[in-house]
Amino acid sequence: MEKMKVFYEELLNWYSQNRRVLPWREDPSPYHVWLSEIMLQQTRVEAVKEYYRRFLDSLPDVASLAEAPEELCLKLWEGLGYYSRVRNLKKAAVEVMENRGGEIPNTCAELKKLPGIGTYTSAAIASIAFGERIPSVDGNLLRIFSRLTMYEENIRTPAALKKAVECYTELMPEKTETIPEENPCGNFNQALMDLGNAVCLPNTTPDCGNCPISEFCRIHRERPGREADLPAIRTGKDKKVEHLTVFLIRSEGKTAVRKRPARGLLAGLYEFPNTAGELGRDEAVKWLREHSLEPLRIRRIPDAEHIFTHKKWILRGYEVITEPFSEGSIPFIMASAEEITDKYCIPSAFGTYLKWLDLNSSVPLS
Ligand code: SF4
Repeated sequence: MEKMKVFYEELLNWYSQNRRVLPWREDPSPYHVWLSEIMLQQTRVEAVKEYYRRFLDSLPDVASLAEAPEELCLKLWEGLGYYSRVRNLKKAAVEVMENRGGEIPNTCAELKKLPGIGTYTSAAIASIAFGERIPSVDGNLLRIFSRLTMYEENIRTPAALKKAVECYTELMPEKTETIPEENPCGNFNQALMDLGNAVCLPNTTPDCGNCPISEFCRIHRERPGREADLPAIRTGKDKKVEHLTVFLIRSEGKTAVRKRPARGLLAGLYEFPNTAGELGRDEAVKWLREHSLEPLRIRRIPDAEHIFTHKKWILRGYEVITEPFSEGSIPFIMASAEEITDKYCIPSAFGTYLKWLDLNSSVPLS
């Protein structure tokens, strides 16, 4: 027991002196913590900061989020990717307003019942916003766990997660042992996240000389200099690769976009017209004619690539200038660069082509 006390005291002391200053930490209201945790899923802290401010400027509380049109939510999310996150965020806000009296649930178990809130996120919100004594085990905490305890099995398994939760649950302070107002459990989780970000680093030698918990760390004690050997990571199959051809179709100062299907990957967002496969020039012209377009000029523009969780897209780009055509004769929406920027939510998978929307910018040939 005494040993555990020293562990969290060293860790919390380090955190009080080294914690990252982050906008959502300055006022950790449940809505702020919830929003930040959803944005931080699969996204770097630096990238999130600006989105977080912008989102809060527009939708400052759960009531405004519940009432906001989905198109606005998507627009505020544009570029962050994984758009199901914002759709679920909105659904959960509606649920909170309609069935929970406008109060965000204050326990991990209740939070998990809301759309888009899984095991990690519910534990993070419950501990950081409400002080619940529950570890929120993300990639950082898994890595530290593997090194602390010399866990040599594959870290990407439910069994490893379970062991990590058990380990941290034992090490966490009891609220009664510390000052409750200082939120020891929320700070314990955030301290480990920051430690994983600044000291116990992935893919490189960790900075064990500056680690507040080094005296508890088994791999540091038993295999000094070999700490980066853990965690053991065995991934599943390689990502599936899909090839697409993307068309930047331009006519009379406008560019073609279309809405993606309501279900599946990037559902309901907008995109530049595209088709499966890497089309050669003749095949590309044939595809355009099949879509009632007569190209005046066609040229290759830069290729791009985008990585999703389970698949990778490799994109071949063409810029096409077409003959003028009548509205409604093609299956696309023709929009100006301003309209596309302001109104249509184009996911970052097409970001390379978004950069060349301005008709005055010269598109480099690939
Ligand atoms: S001693 Fe080194 S390996 Fe162990 S937790 Fe600290 S930084 Fe990580």
